[in-house]
Amino acid sequence: MKATIIYGPRDVRFEMRDDPKIIKPTDAIIRVSATCVCGSDLWTYRGINKIDQPMPFGHEYCGFVDEIGSAVKSIKLGQFVIGSFFASDNTCPHCRAGYQSSCERKELVVGAQAPFLRVPLADGTLVSTPGIPPEDLIPSLLSLSDVMGTGWFAADAASVKPGSTVVVVGDGAVGLLGVLSAKQMGAKRIIAMSRHASRQKLARDFGATDIVTERGDVGVAHIKELTNGVGADSVLECVGTKEAMMQAIDSTRPGGSVGYVGVPHGVELKGEELFWTHVRLHGGPAPVRRYLPELIDLVWSKKINPGKVFDLTLPLDKVADGYRAMDERRAIKVLLRP
Ligand SMILES: [Zn+2]
Repeated sequence: MKATIIYGPRDVRFEMRDDPKIIKPTDAIIRVSATCVCGSDLWTYRGINKIDQPMPFGHEYCGFVDEIGSAVKSIKLGQFVIGSFFASDNTCPHCRAGYQSSCERKELVVGAQAPFLRVPLADGTLVSTPGIPPEDLIPSLLSLSDVMGTGWFAADAASVKPGSTVVVVGDGAVGLLGVLSAKQMGAKRIIAMSRHASRQKLARDFGATDIVTERGDVGVAHIKELTNGVGADSVLECVGTKEAMMQAIDSTRPGGSVGYVGVPHGVELKGEELFWTHVRLHGGPAPVRRYLPELIDLVWSKKINPGKVFDLTLPLDKVADGYRAMDERRAIKVLLRP
């Protein structure tokens, strides 16, 4: 098959590689219906995360079960399934506690930007939809594989509750879906920090009540002004830079929570400063698997439409154009169809 391989900075190719095969009896092979480009892959694309050798790329997927290993029990051939970027057994102590992305047997799923994909630990990782989805639900179902699950975890980790005042730092796809998640969880006020008109509009569509365009200390001052000097109950940090993390912590009221899902790059926190803030921090790689049944239900019943975050759809063989569009911030999130 032809599939996506990254060779180095800004060098993504669509070329021949071996078809994935069942390696362990707990594996499944998925015929991919849709995949996409992740903001976190841009760290590699831009050369900030180094790679030693060409590697298959992409980790977001949904599609049909094409083949299963001999030990797979609950997942059936022909089902439409969604899974996380971390395969998990869903039975170990961390999985049972709801932290499947820390599973004792976790494995990264790589090579999803391809017509076929091997998913390890299929029974623990994959969740099937109630039936074959209509075409218009595919983007939203795909989003549950990572970006929506991650936005949802950010809101959950930040303890968003009915009536909360929420700040979202970051107007990438995860931040925008963090807005949607906070809205769905009943937040009363949602302040999105964004400088870009098209992203501000989508943030408002997803439920943002206010937009703050400033960053850093000026941005924090604006948040304080909007909250009578108090700060927010819950802040979602969806970027991963030191500036974004400090903006998040400084925007949170004493006793409030920061949910951080931006993969940290150069973030260092001073223990003493943190001590005096009275702010809770919780984050990490989102345990997407925990949320899949609930989020599939919300999409299936059309209560949420996270697929609106995709503003460019390309055939899979144009994957390199998709990376360019996201790198240059011409697209918020690129959907790819094999
Ligand atoms: Zn586990």
